[in-house]
Amino acid sequence: MFIAHIPSGYIYAVSILKKIKNTTIPAHLIFLSAVSGAILPDLDLIYFYLIDHRQTHHHKYITHWPLLWISLAVISYALYACSSQKKLGFLSFIACTSCILHMILDTVVGDIWWFFPFIDQPFALFTVTALYKPWWLNFILHWSFALELVICSLAICIYIKRTKNN
Ligand SMILES: [Zn+2]
Repeated sequence: MFIAHIPSGYIYAVSILKKIKNTTIPAHLIFLSAVSGAILPDLDLIYFYLIDHRQTHHHKYITHWPLLWISLAVISYALYACSSQKKLGFLSFIACTSCILHMILDTVVGDIWWFFPFIDQPFALFTVTALYKPWWLNFILHWSFALELVICSLAICIYIKRTKNN
């Protein structure tokens, strides 16, 4: 997924705010957690290009291991439910579940190793055939890019609606 991660994090934050009306946590922190989590796994591209020199598929890095984010989400929820650090636990839970959302969206046409490090097997819902150069053109001209445009459009509509209501 190329352009829809940040909008998906925004939509996720809005859906959380709709569910929890009575919270002492400021809305901007919920937005920050959800949007940060939505793009956090792709920060590994810095390592991919500058240090690893594209030797390893960046979806194989620990930042793209779904089991990491699922584990951290469980720990965050435990922190929220069982300790006095409820705010930290809640915001951390939002960020980690947003990372899981990132993995789900990446799985549409990108290989994600859902059970790594236990099973070395990538999963993708659809395959993008290499027809064009440069490589990213194959993804932009693939039908799945319409899904990205739908997510972006939805986020823009929600944003406009929210700003009109405020
Ligand atoms: Zn990614």
